[in-house]
Order: sequence, then structure tokens, then C-alpha cells
Amino acid sequence: MLHIDGRLGEGGGQVLRTSLSLSALTGRSFRLTHIRANRGKPGLRPQHLTAVRAAARTCGAALAGDAIDSRTLEFRPAMPPQPGDYHFDVSDAAQGGSAGAVTLIFQAILWPLLFAGGRSRVTMRGGTHVPMSPPWHYVAHVLRPAFARIGANFDTVLEAWGWYPVGGGVMTATIEPAARLDAPVFEHVPAARVEGVAAVTNLPADIPQRMAGRATNLLAAAGLRPRIEPRREKGAGPGAGIFLWLPGGGFGAIGRRGWPADQVAEAAVAETLAFVDNTAMVDRYLADQLLLPLALAHGRTRYTTNHLTLHTVTNADLLRLWLDTRIDIAGDLNGPAAISVTGAGFTID
Ligand code: ATP
Repeated sequence: MLHIDGRLGEGGGQVLRTSLSLSALTGRSFRLTHIRANRGKPGLRPQHLTAVRAAARTCGAALAGDAIDSRTLEFRPAMPPQPGDYHFDVSDAAQGGSAGAVTLIFQAILWPLLFAGGRSRVTMRGGTHVPMSPPWHYVAHVLRPAFARIGANFDTVLEAWGWYPVGGGVMTATIEPAARLDAPVFEHVPAARVEGVAAVTNLPADIPQRMAGRATNLLAAAGLRPRIEPRREKGAGPGAGIFLWLPGGGFGAIGRRGWPADQVAEAAVAETLAFVDNTAMVDRYLADQLLLPLALAHGRTRYTTNHLTLHTVTNADLLRLWLDTRIDIAGDLNGPAAISVTGAGFTID
């Protein structure tokens, strides 16, 4: 059994999710202590507990410590991950509902299900566009093409939008089986077209129009070719946001009461332009989320990011505990960095 101290590096939820993925995948049990020790509300929150139960379902894992606020977890897989039809609802783990991010549940179960030897279909209910997590549009338009290049293929549909605090969003995903992953060659793609969506649920239609219009003007003035679709959708609660994507990255902003639509758009555009203004291959989020598949893959690869996060450094430290991988990071926190990964060459028979 692998013993992991949850205070590692950033000491947040990623330490848990990466461990869940790799335990379910490799069959190795783990005991995680000091879960999310560096967060204001430490321990397992609804999103994390749902990820624990979801990963456990894929491999029949026996659990100890699987309760809200628990700071210690034991996870013992009983069988290899099984393909199938899975349903997970973050509000099952929380009294009174939760907008816990379904995209992070997906992040935890994608890897074991990918290597489960058959196609899986997963339905996840909770938050689809909530702070501090990948918005669904990032999964669909940034992660999906990046992972496909490594040999990890999935399709996803946004069935309903779910914002903080009500949640109630639904994301489905179909995961195609793979026997191995291969490290691709990454390169910087000069930005030209920026795509996006400006959306509201249960709010007036002029808000997405204003967000899309402002973002279009600012991006065009910066020499880019924007195509941003304004949308008015139905959802369990009110919400507004703009989500932009381009090769190697995606940036968004989620509205809140009293924050003018123009300024929401400006925030998303400012982040986008900061990424475009350099020669990095991937944004700060992809930089940490590429590490796990590349650590499993066959071969060696290198990529650059404009912003090295503690998240990325922590995920690298954790992956070295789990897998026979070599990860070298050249660069300082919060600045540009180059990351080299030699994968462990994981294969299923
Ligand atoms: P905690 O509450 O402990 O911080 P958490 O479970 O919410 O934990 P983190 O450990 O902070 O999660 O990990 C968040 C993950 O979401 C990381 O992989 C990060 O790259 C990703 N992420 C966060 N914001 C975005 C965003 N705007 N776009 C894409 N990915 C994002």
C-alpha cells in the first residue's frame, strides 16, 4: 500500500484525484492522510467524495474514511477497472445539493476507464461551470483535442448547465478504450482564431450579447479572429459566463451579481491575450493536466507553458511516487517553464 501525505506541495484536491486514477488503474492500494490540509475547509468536500466513490465503482474498491470532511482515506481496488454505463451525482454526497465540479470527477475516472478494455458511457450531475475547475467547454475544446493526440479519445456532451451554487448541470462522456498512450511532439501554434461561447441561463438575453460583443471587439483589436456565440440556455439556477478557447489553452470568466457583462468579457480576454503574447505551447491548466497521461505514455516529450503553477509541480511530485516516470521542470513558479516527461509505458494486455 502506498502511503501519501496530502500536505504534499499545494496540498489540495489534485493529490487525491491523481491517486484515485492511478490506484484504480494499477490496482495498487493507497492510504492518503491530511487530505486537502492546505485548504480553508480541509478534508473531503462533496466533489472529492463523489470522485472517491466514482473511482471506487470502476474497480470495486473497498473504502475506509469515505465521508464528508474526512481527512484520511484508504482505497483498495478489488479488480481491474471495468467498462460500463456509470451515473454519478455530486449532490448524493451533500445534504442540500452541491455545485461540485463534474469535470473534476471526470478527471479522476477518465484514465482507469480508458484502460478498461471496452467503451464506457458516463453521466455526471453537478457543477459544469464553477470557479477553480475546468469549465465543460475547456474539457470539450482544449482537453479533448490535447488528449486525443496522446491516444486518449472521448466525446462529451453538455446536457445542462450547472453554475455555483445551485449546480444541477449534466455532462455525459463516452470513453473509447485504449491499450496504450503515446507521447506526441508538442509545438507552439501561433494564435489566430479564438472561439467561444457567451452564455446565460435564466437571465436576460442582452447579457450574452454584451459579453460576446465586447470580447469580439477586444480580440479583433488585438489582431485575432474571434468567433463567439451568444447563447441563452435553460438551467437549474441563474448563471452567466464567457468561455474562450484557442490552440493550447482556454480562458473564461463567470459572472456574479453586480459585475457588469462588459467587465466579465474583459477579464476573459485579458487572460487570453496574456497567453497569446508569448510562445508557450500550453496554458497553465493544460500544463498540469497533461502530466498524468504523459507519465503513463510510451516515449518522451517536452512542452512549454507561460505559467508554471504549484499545481503542476505538485502533480509531478505525486506522479513520481506512483509511476516509473521521469519528469523534469525547468523554470520558476508563476513564470514560463519547460516540462520534459518520460512516460512509464503503461500497457494493458
Ligand atoms: P481544492 O479545493 O483542494 O483546491 P480542487 O479539488 O478544487 O481542490 P485543485 O486541486 O485546485 O482542485 O485542482 C483543480 C484542477 O482544475 C486542476 O487540474 C486545474 O488545472 C484545473 N483548473 C482550474 N481552473 C481551471 C480553468 N479555469 N480552466 C481549466 N482548468 C482549470
